[in-house]
Amino acid sequence: MARQYSSRKRVLVTGGAGFLGSHLCERLIGEGHEVLCVDNFFTGDKRNITHLLKHDRFELLRHDITFPLFVEVDEIYNLACPASPIHYQHDPVQTTKTSVHGSINMLGLAKRLKAKILQASTSEVYGDPSVHPQTEDYWGHVNPIGPRSCYDEGKRCAETLFFDYHRQLRVSIKVPRIFNTYGPRMHVADGRVVSNFIVQALRGEPITLYGDGQQTRSFCYVDDLIDGLVRMMDSADDVTGPINLGNPTEFSMVELAERVIAGTGSKSQLTYAPLPEDDPRQRRPDISRAKDVLGWQPNVPLEAGLERTIAYFKTVV
Ligand code: NAD
Ligand code: UDP
Ligand code: UDP
Repeated sequence: MARQYSSRKRVLVTGGAGFLGSHLCERLIGEGHEVLCVDNFFTGDKRNITHLLKHDRFELLRHDITFPLFVEVDEIYNLACPASPIHYQHDPVQTTKTSVHGSINMLGLAKRLKAKILQASTSEVYGDPSVHPQTEDYWGHVNPIGPRSCYDEGKRCAETLFFDYHRQLRVSIKVPRIFNTYGPRMHVADGRVVSNFIVQALRGEPITLYGDGQQTRSFCYVDDLIDGLVRMMDSADDVTGPINLGNPTEFSMVELAERVIAGTGSKSQLTYAPLPEDDPRQRRPDISRAKDVLGWQPNVPLEAGLERTIAYFKTVV
């Protein structure tokens, strides 16, 4: 869709070559905006955005957001940060730097440009939650010195920076807290549960359940999530968040494995491995605020989302 120049926005997407970022770039290009995708390709992949490279409203810049960035845009989606435990624990110092130094740089950029800025926060700010389902006013239960802390505390500090730049410097901020999201273009080897199970099922390998497999997560299909992010960016100025974005239907990992086996027609068996340290026992978003404020709720049930995701992984495995 081509847009009148006057209603066309110049949008920066950091982490734009990653899983969520590439879907967001695609959506924004589809809506007629100009997109500047910035990525250091730590976990991103050029193949996620190859189809956008030929587009005259799409531009790609290799850059690490822990360093300053001087560009001219109207809106910033700050998605840069490795998201899977394997990747964010690979270089934990860099993970914290990406959330903290990266956010400071992107907030400095937003301040100079008077641009709106959205931070991809996470349900991990709730840690291993003692309140269930999680509402935005729950402060969380997070280990500050464990293997997941570089991600959880980095994201918590990023939220602090966003709210302080808002209060102190009047930067217009949007802070969605994203719960487990899945779909095409998840990294084959990122170790997240949906991609792991599908890849294992398609290869006929055992499906690895960590712990007893009774821990729960609530999985949101990528298209629903991207719609939530765009709605949040487009919301009134006084809507800062935090707002939970996720699918409130909760599954145990055993149930997920069974659904993946059914969806792939695989003969894979279940196998059990130790539960990683600080692995949250349960997680489900309370999305009342997203419904009230953004008029948003997810529409794609797990079965339909898994079908599309399995179809994607069949092309790459
Ligand atoms: P991803 O790993 O596919 O994407 C992250 C992208 O950021 C990659 O392209 C990576 O190369 C890039 N990146 C990492 N460090 C960078 C840096 N210093 N400078 C520039 N680019 C950098 O992960 P994703 O699932 O697409 O997650 C995107 C964002 O959403 C992350 O901030 C993540 O924390 C957040 N999030 C995702 C989920 C989920 O379930 N997918 C849940 C909660 C929050
Ligand atoms: N920054 C940036 N791009 C800009 C403006 C600022 O990357 O267009 C960086 C800048 O290098 C600084 C950070 O953002 O390190 C925070 O900027 P701010 O103006 O808040 O702080 P100051 O420059 O006063 O330390
Ligand atoms: N998990 C699992 N087998 C795997 C990968 C993950 O049982 O092969 C479990 C993991 O222990 C966690 C849940 O699935 O309880 C979700 O893990 P993921 O890394 O996808 O997300 P997060 O823990 O960050 O929510």
